[in-house]
Amino acid sequence: MARPAQASLDLSALRHNVSHARTLAPHSKMMAVVKANAYGHGAAIIAAAIEEKVDALAVACIEEAMELRGAGITVPILLLQGVFEPDELITASENDLWLMIENEWQLSSLEQAKLASKVHCWLKIDTGMHRLGIDPADLEGFMARLSGCMNSHTDTVLCTHFASADNLHSDQTAQQLADFKRACKPYPSHLSAANSPALLGWPETHLDWVRPGYMLYGNSPFGQESHPSTEALRPVMTLSSGVISISQVATGEAVGYASTWIAERASVIATVTIGYGDGYPRNAKNGTPVLVNGQRARLVGRVSMDMITIDITDLKNVSIGDTVTLWGEGLPVAEVAHWSDTIGYELTTRMPARTSRIVTVD
Ligand SMILES: *Cc1c(COP(=O)(O)O)cnc(C)c1O
Repeated sequence: MARPAQASLDLSALRHNVSHARTLAPHSKMMAVVKANAYGHGAAIIAAAIEEKVDALAVACIEEAMELRGAGITVPILLLQGVFEPDELITASENDLWLMIENEWQLSSLEQAKLASKVHCWLKIDTGMHRLGIDPADLEGFMARLSGCMNSHTDTVLCTHFASADNLHSDQTAQQLADFKRACKPYPSHLSAANSPALLGWPETHLDWVRPGYMLYGNSPFGQESHPSTEALRPVMTLSSGVISISQVATGEAVGYASTWIAERASVIATVTIGYGDGYPRNAKNGTPVLVNGQRARLVGRVSMDMITIDITDLKNVSIGDTVTLWGEGLPVAEVAHWSDTIGYELTTRMPARTSRIVTVD
């Protein structure tokens, strides 16, 4: 029997989530964000499954884009951070990769490049995130130079990024949107602002292009807070493994490294072959939920590299070989993230290559 630790990928759920995003933002073009190996799911698999349903894809850098081109993906791909070296402009123009321009250096590199064909550009405006993008006061100068630049098409998309769209009670999103629209008013260009939480929770942000990532993988960016727009989402990744040992532990005995959990009653402990070497977070606390044959049980003791231990004292009929779900179908990744002091984004994204991705289609 092969080691059962695996991340199964439900491509029907993925396509359903793309359609759901389309329904929520029916008047916008859609760019699906597949950076960081599609948030750990596997970029080539995810891109191939949705490329016909989206208008473009987005990645962080040219290496990620070229991996997709190598896998036969033909839709336009935006480089979300633009280029890091002038040579990348040639590769971008030859492979229909769109450029984010977010600073003076990137614009002058584009002006000076010798390219066989023009590239499509997105111009990033900083409206309060203060991470990337030009100051709204510099927009006029950038637009004048882009419209005179031999290497860029004239259909520049103006975009910005929200700092707090996942906080439904913050007024920062409305403030950023107002500043963005005011800055862009003189230009008859296309506008883009919405990431997943904005697409789901702030319809006024949809504009011409939406840029969802996380929600397409079926998880709510609002963590454990409920919102009607997230109810239809279906998780794409289900991380699972199996029980490999069951033992009795007497009251007062400890379980695992550093003895962080002590049995307060006679307990039945199941050992599951999955650990931080398979993408399960080492900082998951005692009590983190898992599903054994669909029933809830709790993590006890430290997460090891290849194993975890769970308390199955109150569960019936558990045997060696039974399936344990760590997150996904029936157990939202946000809940596990909450017990591990992080967000679901990080848990799926740091899934290592060691964990096999098994594709399922309903
Ligand atoms: C990552 C990213 C997105 C997608 O964000 P999600 O919250 O995953 O939807 C959108 N726009 C930019 C600029 C990004 O970097």
